[in-house]
Amino acid sequence: MTDERDLIGRATGGGPVGVRARSTVGLVPDEVFKERTAACLRCEFHAEAVDDRVLIGRAATGSSGYCRRSGWTIGEKARLALAVCPEPSLDDDRLSRWGELR
Ligand code: SF4
Repeated sequence: MTDERDLIGRATGGGPVGVRARSTVGLVPDEVFKERTAACLRCEFHAEAVDDRVLIGRAATGSSGYCRRSGWTIGEKARLALAVCPEPSLDDDRLSRWGELR
């Protein structure tokens, strides 16, 4: 028999309540993450971090970079589904430099 704690855990993407599970809700798939980070690494607003953002960014992407337009480390920003690139594409201003609708 399924108890209430188990149902709540499944509904929130984890196991039974009380069991810590890593949620992937709100994150983009690896393929999108790689496309976004590749665009950032080509972008003139990409900069190498000079503070503790280095460690976070490098762990996530192999890059120590961050976005000078938004202030985010590339590795964090590119992983979040709701994050947006603030700059228009150089080819189509309806799209961001990530190639996503603005
Ligand atoms: S988020 Fe956009 S503006 Fe910022 S570094 Fe990446 S491509 Fe450039």
